[in-house]
Amino acid sequence: MSVKILTKHFGIKDSHKINVYMKNGGYKQAEKALKEMKPEEILEEVKKSNLRGRGGAGFPTGLKWSFVPKDTGKPVYLCVNSDESEPGTFKDRHILEKDPHMLIEGIIITSYTIGANEAYIYIRGEYYPQAIRLQEAIEEAYQKGFLGENIFGTGYKLDLKIYRGAGAYICGEETALLESIEGKKGKPRLKPPFPAAVGLYDCPTVINNVETIADIPTIVEKGGEWFASLGPERNGGTKLFAVSGHVNKPGVYEHEMGYPLMKLINEDAGGILDGLKLKAVIPGGSSVPILRAEECDINLDYDSVMKAGSMLGSGAVIVMSEKTCMVKALSRLIHFYKDESCGQCTPCREGTGWMLKIINRIIAGKGRKEDVDTLYYIAKGIMGHTVCPLGDAAAMPVISFINKFRDEFEYYAINKKSMVE
Ligand code: SF4
Repeated sequence: MSVKILTKHFGIKDSHKINVYMKNGGYKQAEKALKEMKPEEILEEVKKSNLRGRGGAGFPTGLKWSFVPKDTGKPVYLCVNSDESEPGTFKDRHILEKDPHMLIEGIIITSYTIGANEAYIYIRGEYYPQAIRLQEAIEEAYQKGFLGENIFGTGYKLDLKIYRGAGAYICGEETALLESIEGKKGKPRLKPPFPAAVGLYDCPTVINNVETIADIPTIVEKGGEWFASLGPERNGGTKLFAVSGHVNKPGVYEHEMGYPLMKLINEDAGGILDGLKLKAVIPGGSSVPILRAEECDINLDYDSVMKAGSMLGSGAVIVMSEKTCMVKALSRLIHFYKDESCGQCTPCREGTGWMLKIINRIIAGKGRKEDVDTLYYIAKGIMGHTVCPLGDAAAMPVISFINKFRDEFEYYAINKKSMVE
């Protein structure tokens, strides 16, 4: 039985309400942190915990916090990234709906640790009911005195605001998110400088994912070493895995880092639909390289998935059965990234459009065998040559789909029909 941290209140009636959260020990860790711990002590626990950013990049959270410069004379901000728009990713939504106070408690502790008195939650525009629920939770927290002036009588002050996006995937990229909060178009910034030094309104800023922040109260409660002990080396804690695609029980499952991928698919998610065979899995959200079925005997932690040639990303596991046409599946992905390109840099803006035209030409029965190489060549030209990671996110699926399923692409281009139909 896996340890439950993020889903431990799921299933409790009215788990989103502050009284229910407090009855189950809620806000005690924020009180402990503010009254009994120095910011450096909390930072040390988070470093020890081996918590890595749950938004996709997997960067060590404690290290990220430690990059915030001290004594710049400028305010420090915390921005919580709740733009969750990567296809296949729907885990943060559950925290927002079922346990928004765990997130708010994590925000209080994180803000105190990094020296912020103002925090934002950037939530995707499509998450309207979730934004309403979150707003109600924030108001409850203000009424109880957990936000605002003199929290727990310590003199510490924190204001928390929601900022709703307008439906652009790119605003989940951290610097585009900052631009959007500042009221500008959501276009990524060139890095460096990194947001820890020059972020929101040119001030030091920490940007963390919802799931990352929701882990913080438990780290304060049980200690960094306990959290680290849940997973393999360098991969502390539990993770929410969002399983979608051709499985009998799609959904969000929490397990310790290092949980076996095939166990997640066959036991938690009830196996492949209609008793079909597994063909492939995208293990970390649509932008990461695809794995063939025979490569899926792996554990789900950042290092193991990387070793297998893909990435854990956001923990969004997209499962494909033997009936999946890889050419059509890739066309859907390219279409998404082409639509979501902000248009700022040429390889991404033009390259995604070219790739979509070519793959749709193949699907329309007008393909040529050399189209497959052209697709590959364009994707290679995008990789690493853009301002933000969306370029790589669009290119990586193309490169990996062709590497793993080239025969299907060539068959479609030459025979003008899918190999699996
Ligand atoms: Fe915009 Fe794409 Fe360039 Fe990112 S890679 S800045 S989304 S054009």
